[in-house]
Amino acid sequence: MSSNPSPAAGTTPTAGPTPTPTSTPTTPGASGPHAPSAAAADPALDHLDWPFFEGRHRRFAESLDAWARAALAEAPHPHDRAAVDARCRDLVRQLGRDGWLRHAVAGVAHGGASDVLDTRMLCLARETLARHDGLADFAFAMQGLGSGAISLAGTDEQRARWLPRVARGEAIAAFALSEPDAGSDVAAMQCAARIEGDHAVLDGTKTWISNGGIADVYVVFVREHASGAPAGAAAEAPRRGTRDIGAYVVEAGTPGFEIAERLDVIAPHPLATLRFANCRVPLAQRLGPAGEGFKIAMRTLDVFRTSVAAAALGFARRALAEGLDRSLARRMFDARLADFQLTQARLAQMATTVDAAALLTYRAAWRRDQGHAVTREAAMAKLAATEGAQQVIDAAVQLFGGQGVRSGETVERLYREIRALRIYEGASEVQQLIIGRELVRAATQAGG
Ligand SMILES: Cc1cc2nc3c(=O)[nH]c(=O)nc-3n(C[C@H](O)[C@H](O)[C@H](O)COP(=O)(O)OP(=O)(O)OC[C@H]3O[C@@H](n4cnc5c(N)ncnc54)[C@H](O)[C@@H]3O)c2cc1C
Repeated sequence: MSSNPSPAAGTTPTAGPTPTPTSTPTTPGASGPHAPSAAAADPALDHLDWPFFEGRHRRFAESLDAWARAALAEAPHPHDRAAVDARCRDLVRQLGRDGWLRHAVAGVAHGGASDVLDTRMLCLARETLARHDGLADFAFAMQGLGSGAISLAGTDEQRARWLPRVARGEAIAAFALSEPDAGSDVAAMQCAARIEGDHAVLDGTKTWISNGGIADVYVVFVREHASGAPAGAAAEAPRRGTRDIGAYVVEAGTPGFEIAERLDVIAPHPLATLRFANCRVPLAQRLGPAGEGFKIAMRTLDVFRTSVAAAALGFARRALAEGLDRSLARRMFDARLADFQLTQARLAQMATTVDAAALLTYRAAWRRDQGHAVTREAAMAKLAATEGAQQVIDAAVQLFGGQGVRSGETVERLYREIRALRIYEGASEVQQLIIGRELVRAATQAGG
């Protein structure tokens, strides 16, 4: 995994967009690291007083929380594909219109809220949106992940062409790395690009691509072949490695690029297999120099991996709140469910897991914003937050009894939504390997 080259946090003020009328005003002068937050009475927001955050982070999270309460409260949770697609398009449009997507792209000149992606803002956005609506989190996250390689490695011209539309919610973005036989093992990638003059000609398949089918712009990672090499992965023996991978921006509708199959999953969102057959893409749409694609992909994932932890944290926090409410309201054996010590032990475990995930998540985000490499910290955050959220949500379902598995119940939805987070952007086992490798490397270096 690449180290993190990012410099310090954003250079411009990045308070949230215009607060909605329902937003909580920030305490005057509350901008120091330990200033009290006006929303601290809400348990879902009380971590905003932690020293990881600055005043702008608190104002942003409180404003977004108020916005989400107003804009997402009654949102339906569609199941059929057309309705899910329409809802995602609508969410991207709303998030762009109201200014939130500015935090998902880098570069003030290109519509971003700051010149460098602010990891704490990204994480607060994902945690908050996930707590309210998993699809809203998905819509926000994919605009960031899908355009992340452009933010990080695009030329001024490339950034100017795509980022403003992504930030305004006028173009939907996707990140296409995985293949049928190259998921955890990215180095097994076979999707190919042969260079012909001032074009790259793409052949091959990508799968599990979020926003596949509704995206306007895809960042596609391919194995680059020298001019005159055979076209297509099938024409030669499979190759391995990361040195000859390139990253290209491919617009929907480019001849030779098609959606081969739409994929349905337990928590529905747009997802597809992409097919490229003799798909000609101008070399001007390559991100970074030839052969730098793998590094660009890893730099992008380095930013967004911590935000997956934040989304899991949002799901877990919502499950804890739902479980607590239920155990206070549900009566049995002449008492409230919450009065039993077994229930309190369960709630205690849930709350401890949530706080541990939050501490690891915002430690990683804060360290990255200080310009440190966070390979180990981000892996720890993702591992602990996603695995922990699965346990917290399962515990909440248990507190609800039969009602917990009823379609349409919030904890039932959370139970489905959390599952994929333990698999994508590096499965839990991959995070374990990263943490173990980093520990061994550090100990070896320390030992001389
Ligand atoms: C809902 C969803 C959305 C996705 N969105 C995107 C997207 O937008 N863009 C994109 O490029 N990809 C996306 N993916 C793909 C995702 O990144 C891959 O599914 C993931 O990398 C795992 O790859 P795989 O599915 O091929 O599983 P495999 O690589 O076959 O792994 C299967 C399992 O093996 C285990 N495992 C892996 N490595 C090891 C190891 N070294 N030792 C022991 N066990 C191991 C893990 O438990 C893993 O779950 C998405 C996936 C899902 C489910």
